[in-house]
Amino acid sequence: MTTAEWTERYQGAVMNTFGPPQTVLVRGEGVHVWDADGNQYLDLLAGIAVNALGHAHPAIVEAVTSQLTTLGHTSNFFATEPQVRLAEKLVQLVGHDARVFFTNSGTEANEAAFKVTRRTGRTRVVVAEGSFHGRTMGALALTSKEAYRAPFEPLPGDVTWVPYGDAAALEAAVDDTVAAVLVEPIQGEAGVVVPPDDYLRVARAVTTRHGALLWLDEVQTGMGRTGAWFAYEQSGVVPDLLTLAKGLGGGLPIGACVAIGDAGTLLQPGNHGTTFGGNAVSTAAALAVIATIEGEGLLDHVTTIGDQLRRGLADHPLVAEVTGRGLMVGVVLHQPLAAEVQKAAMAAGLILNNATPDRLRIVPPLVLSESEAAHAVTTLRAVLDEVSA
Ligand SMILES: *Cc1c(COP(=O)(O)O)cnc(C)c1O
Repeated sequence: MTTAEWTERYQGAVMNTFGPPQTVLVRGEGVHVWDADGNQYLDLLAGIAVNALGHAHPAIVEAVTSQLTTLGHTSNFFATEPQVRLAEKLVQLVGHDARVFFTNSGTEANEAAFKVTRRTGRTRVVVAEGSFHGRTMGALALTSKEAYRAPFEPLPGDVTWVPYGDAAALEAAVDDTVAAVLVEPIQGEAGVVVPPDDYLRVARAVTTRHGALLWLDEVQTGMGRTGAWFAYEQSGVVPDLLTLAKGLGGGLPIGACVAIGDAGTLLQPGNHGTTFGGNAVSTAAALAVIATIEGEGLLDHVTTIGDQLRRGLADHPLVAEVTGRGLMVGVVLHQPLAAEVQKAAMAAGLILNNATPDRLRIVPPLVLSESEAAHAVTTLRAVLDEVSA
């Protein structure tokens, strides 16, 4: 079966929410994937910042296989060993008293956090323009893009929008009626947009002053992506709510809402639930991801390779700016050619994402090696030459 044949079958049976697939992938190993026509790609997107250890990593294969052959699904009427271990590990990484609610995705982690904010007795949430927090109705109410929201209104209300990165606007928007301020430490879907250095510190100070929760969506930035376990550590703040997903399970579906300090007891029995969330197999995978990041010193590696990518691309004539931290790399183009670059990169054997008309997003596996990064830079520069010509 060729890619074209699979694509036709896909379009006959799968709901058309994503548009036509770029190709049909049949296999992955390390930082490479192959499509049904046998083409090989260097995967600089990693399932959108998900495959932290690349594809078919032995540590994840072993953890999932041994867990599934020991105990698979149980429901949350029962606790399991990997679930308890993962919750403890996340609390340890956060470094403060905290409680974890496990989900299957980023949007569900945000739904859980949204429900936590409602238990403060206040309802107003202050959110940044350009934000992406997910597609379920609650998370969608907190997601900025009008085109995503408009067809589904009315959505849960009492949301106040502020420009991202504008500390003064944030301070002006927060008062004693605000339940929470929600921001991404670096905006991912918006194309790797980094706020000014003091932004999270101002967000922390203003929420503390008004008794509101600081909720950081680290679904994309978390779990080592920026060279720290959590991007907020690089700003010296501690949030009340932290949402995680994407890289957490290294490809297995899992998310987490981590509530720090007093926020950890706002949800009480009956307030929330999930059938699959925190299942033994996904939590075992996440434990393997964390152990591998620790064991192989990947946080420092992420910083080194991220700098190598940014340095290698910054001086290309089509590139206005390189953004982000660690292996969350944005490439801002002088012209709105990101879609053309994405297509040409694919033809040249590179998978990356055109996040906006003029922004590329590169979020490769955290295990991308120096020589693979060098190959990525050389290939992408040639693609940028070709598209500029
Ligand atoms: C991807 C993403 C989400 C949504 O996660 P899903 O697993 O797709 O539901 C939420 N917030 C941020 C910051 C994301 O990048």
